[in-house]
Amino acid sequence: LDQNIARATEYTARFRTEGVLNHIAGENVAALSGETFDSISPVDLSVLAPVAKGGAADIDRAVAAAKAAFKGWSKMPGAERRKILIKVAEAIEARAEEIAFTECLDTGQALRFMSKAAIRGAANFRYFADQAPGAEDGLSLRNPTQLNVTSRRPIGPVGVITPWNTPFMLSTWKIAPALAAGCTVVHKPAEFSPMTAKLLVEIAESAGLPPGVLNVVNGYGEDAGRRLTEHPDIKAIAFVGESRTGSMIMAQGAATLKRVHFELGGKNPVIVFDDADLDRAVDAATFMIYSLNGERCTSSSRLLVQDTIYDAFTARVAEVANRIRIGHPLDPETVVGPLIHPEHEAKVLSYFDKARAEGATVAAGGEKAGSEGCYVRPTLFTNATNEMAIAQEEIFGPVLTAIPFKDEEEALAIANGVQYGLAAYLWTSDLGRAMRMTDELEAGMMWVNSENIRHLPTPFGGVKSSGIGRDGGDWSFDFYMETVNVSFPR
Ligand code: NAD
Repeated sequence: LDQNIARATEYTARFRTEGVLNHIAGENVAALSGETFDSISPVDLSVLAPVAKGGAADIDRAVAAAKAAFKGWSKMPGAERRKILIKVAEAIEARAEEIAFTECLDTGQALRFMSKAAIRGAANFRYFADQAPGAEDGLSLRNPTQLNVTSRRPIGPVGVITPWNTPFMLSTWKIAPALAAGCTVVHKPAEFSPMTAKLLVEIAESAGLPPGVLNVVNGYGEDAGRRLTEHPDIKAIAFVGESRTGSMIMAQGAATLKRVHFELGGKNPVIVFDDADLDRAVDAATFMIYSLNGERCTSSSRLLVQDTIYDAFTARVAEVANRIRIGHPLDPETVVGPLIHPEHEAKVLSYFDKARAEGATVAAGGEKAGSEGCYVRPTLFTNATNEMAIAQEEIFGPVLTAIPFKDEEEALAIANGVQYGLAAYLWTSDLGRAMRMTDELEAGMMWVNSENIRHLPTPFGGVKSSGIGRDGGDWSFDFYMETVNVSFPR
């Protein structure tokens, strides 16, 4: 651990001295106002670095840079863009340790997960790079009098606004397809986790991405974020964050008819029937809520268990929760690190009081861990009902709410009885039941007898308050490109 802390301190030393600057048209720049805000470590609340506090004027500059770079980048043949983006993937792999260590310090996420997230960032670039050469392809549609030829073209400069959970991986998931499609980008990272967005743009430019193609402006959502969503030269906004922020962005973008893509909150059920492989179900249910500190949009934060096995199953989950290793994010043995920020920690802790007041039982955790930093114990609430706040609201921490159900009908009613619909997990050995249930579950993504395993060509996104649009495969290109049709007489 000491060695890792020393390495991480070395990697982030320049941020402490020069600050996390904005990156516009290939240059490191301070905010035009000269203002900064502090990024703090959730490990001990020490200041990690001052961060450029960009505002509307900085966004305007970045958008101008993205607009100026658009022609060159969008007209570059897809095969050439592919070469550059593959080099970006290679450069990410070469600096994966630096990215992972920096992310651990900045977010509190455990190294065992962040090292994989950095590599997944490279995979995102590689995957979308390979689609770049064919991104403009369309169809020809012929009738007796006309030949119609469809094709796609990049929509223009786009804005990407990201949250603080696994920020590097999530940013690449949005930025890589935008660049592969031929768009230029202004990225506004989350204010709680600004460091690895800066690493990404530097790595990309060192690998050959031309200046101005990717620009980064730090700052607050209501200020820099807002201006980006309102800017007339920004043609689309890809946003990942809370559902209520999505509503605000939709309203802010209305005047300029912004195309929006939203990946929002979740309150995802894991539904366990008594005919399931219970050993695997315990492993998957606990992994999906207690890994990544539970700060994961697809976390299984509601455990729906058939009443015949409810007591025994939840007892096993409590046992696992109590054994989970909490510790410094840079310790390779750590599973749960500190939550991102004291404000978020206070939000998570507030649900412990609410749960007790509403009559749920604390079967594990339910309190802070240690006296320093934003550490919270992996928590399990039992005897919960679907009306309780702990069953309805996204807590976004290592907190699981277990609710019993009698049969398929009741399981569906509980699973669908929330405003969200991002992911659902189902455990049963009855194939007919799996088909009936997945037909009725209100979720954009469902996994049967499996934890969340991603395959990049598949669609990613939610229904209801969990999002609008899909990422992955060609769905990403459809968002970042316009489809046009040209008709010829025959
Ligand atoms: P958030 O909505 O508070 O902030 C996200 C980003 O939006 C930040 O960069 C913030 O500065 C910016 N922002 C805030 N107000 C804005 C405004 N008015 N205009 C423009 N930008 C604005 O979310 P968060 O707390 O950083 O992240 C956690 C949330 O993200 C959770 O709800 C989680 O479920 C969600 N999330 C969803 C997915 C998904 O794929 N569905 C993935 C990861 C996280």
